This record gives sequence, C-alpha cells and structure tokens, in this order.
Amino acid sequence: MEALGVLLTFPMNPYLEEELDRRCKLFRLWETPPESRRDFLRAHAGSIRAVVGNAQVGADAETIDSLPKLEIVSCFSVGLDKVDLDKCRQRGIRVTNTPDVLTEDVADLAIGLAIAVMRRIPEADRYVRSGSWKSKGDYKLTTRFSGKTVGIIGLGRIGKAVAKRAEAFGCPIVYYSRSEKPDTNYTYCSNVLDLAANCQVLVVACPLTPETRHIVNREVMDALGPKGVLVNIGRGPHVDEPELYKALIEGRLGGAGIDVFEQEPHVPEELFGLENVVLLPHVGSGTIETRTAMADLVLGNLEAHFTNKPLLTPVI
Ligand code: NAP
Repeated sequence: MEALGVLLTFPMNPYLEEELDRRCKLFRLWETPPESRRDFLRAHAGSIRAVVGNAQVGADAETIDSLPKLEIVSCFSVGLDKVDLDKCRQRGIRVTNTPDVLTEDVADLAIGLAIAVMRRIPEADRYVRSGSWKSKGDYKLTTRFSGKTVGIIGLGRIGKAVAKRAEAFGCPIVYYSRSEKPDTNYTYCSNVLDLAANCQVLVVACPLTPETRHIVNREVMDALGPKGVLVNIGRGPHVDEPELYKALIEGRLGGAGIDVFEQEPHVPEELFGLENVVLLPHVGSGTIETRTAMADLVLGNLEAHFTNKPLLTPVI
C-alpha cells in the first residue's frame, strides 16, 4: 500500500498516524490552513484513494467531490454523522466505521457521568482541594444513583451496554428506539417525552441524524424534571444547549453529565459555574485500549479494501 494516497482529516491517534505514514503516502489535512484546503485537495486529488476521518472531521460532499479517485472512507468512530453517506452511495465509495470495540468504554463513561453528577464527585473533589472541608465542615448530602430508573434513547450496542451496567445497580430500564426490542425485558416507550417522564436518569445513545437533532428539547427536559439527570454520550446536537442551560439555571432539570457538545471544542461557558453539571471533552472511547483497537480496525479495513478482501466493518 506504499503508493496509496490516504487523507487523514484530523490528528486523531498517534499510533494510527504512524502506521498510516509507514504503510501509505499520508496527507495530513489539518496541517493546511482551512482557506487553502481546496487547493491542497486539488493538488493531491490524483493520488488520494482513501479518507480516514473521525467524529470531528469526516468526509463532506465538498471533500468527496474534490477527490475523483476516492474509493473508501474509513471512519475512526462509530458515528457517521460527519460523512455524506448519500454522496458515498452515489459514487460507489465504500464506508467503514469502528463499532463494538468502543461500546464498553462509552457505556462505562455514561454510568460514570450519572454517578459523578448525582454524587457531585467533581464538586466534592474541589471542596477538598480548596480547603473547604477544613474550613466549612462536612460536604452536603447528595442523591443515590442505585435503584433509579434509567431511560435510554437508542437501545443499540452502547444503549444495551449502559442498560446492562445500570441493571447491576438495581436500576429499572426504560428505553425509546424507533422499534421495540423484543429480545430484552426492558420497558419500551413509544416516544421520548413518555420516556423522560418515566425515568430519573436519561441517557442519549442514538446516532445523530436529522430526526435525532435536538431530540432532547425543552419539553423533554421539563418531562425529566427538577430531580432528573441528563447524560449525553451520543452527539452534541442531540441536545438543545441553550435550553439545557436555561433548564439547569431555572431548576427545571436536576443535573447533566455531558461528553459531547454542539460546537466542539466550544463548550458554553454558562455551564462552567454550575455544580450540578459534569463536562467532558468527548472522551467516551478515549482509553488506550479502545483507541488502539479502533486504529487497528481502520487499518484492517483499508488493507482489506486494497487487497480485494471483504471489509471488516462495512457500512456501505
Ligand atoms: P447502534 O448500535 O447503531 O445503536 C444506535 C441505536 O439508536 C439503535 O438501536 C437504533 O435503534 C437507535 N436509533 C436510530 N435512530 C433513532 C432515532 N431516530 N430515534 C431513536 N433511536 C434511534 O450504535 P452504537 O454503536 O450504540 O452507537 C450509538 C451512537 O453513540 C453513535 O452513533 C455515536 O454517535 C455515539 N458515540 C459516541 C461516543 C463518544 O465518544 N461519546 C463514542 C461512540 C459512539 P432503532 O433502529 O430501533 O431505532
């Protein structure tokens, strides 16, 4: 694959970058300023046959259109919201992602966020570090996670892994997906409002699509209520952020644990001062083990494609 031109869109993983550099002719898109990228792509259009993107920068219609030799988009993510899938279908471009290998880490983090918010772990940590324990006495009482009803939007790989963990905490599980999952004992809600009204912790674990944009809106937050906690480990645009901020400030929502934001890496600064909020920099799959497995899947898919073998994790 030495002569194979691969466009890496973002500095996503040093091991992946090193391996691509060693095995292919690697083009690093981020090293070119945004205003010159069109010229950069035009200059290398003759040799780029693969794009490797991630949850930040994928392959939009303009990028795909500018690469006439493009054969495959291999995503270093399970979510495909940054890839123009229709365009890939039209052009016969193959698409792969990294499912399964990241499921356990993302589910771990969802439970971690719920507990961190309800038990105020970051705030209590700051209480110790600032010397307040000594000066002000014991930290205030918080809220139990065990036994609370957990609602899940999108009962797929990650949603089911969250449910399995929550069950071990004695939490009843309710969920909303486009269809009922008869292979589970969990309670199905036919819409998100009913789901929010019937749980205390609401976890977003569906893909970002036009239908799921702002799936957590003001009405859903109000249904979740002043004791409810929202956990978003899906994608930022699932949640209406200005409404989230208002609901938290006005006490209409109990708390939020957020790994993903509408305009990453921009995080609304209004959230910084709230103690009932835990904010993470999109690290759901961010362990050494998982990111290495994701990199191996990207490399394996590229190798399979360019040696005419079946793709490991095909989407298209
Ligand atoms: P998955 O196995 O495809 O599960 C997605 C689930 O969402 C499916 O069960 C699907 O069920 C449901 N769904 C699809 N459209 C829906 C809609 N309009 N309304 C409600 N539910 C809908 O995917 P996964 O591997 O669990 O990953 C889920 C998402 O997590 C990814 O797309 C990605 O955006 C996000 N993610 C985030 C991180 C992170 O770092 N925070 C890491 C990995 C993944 P039905 O078909 O029955 O509706």
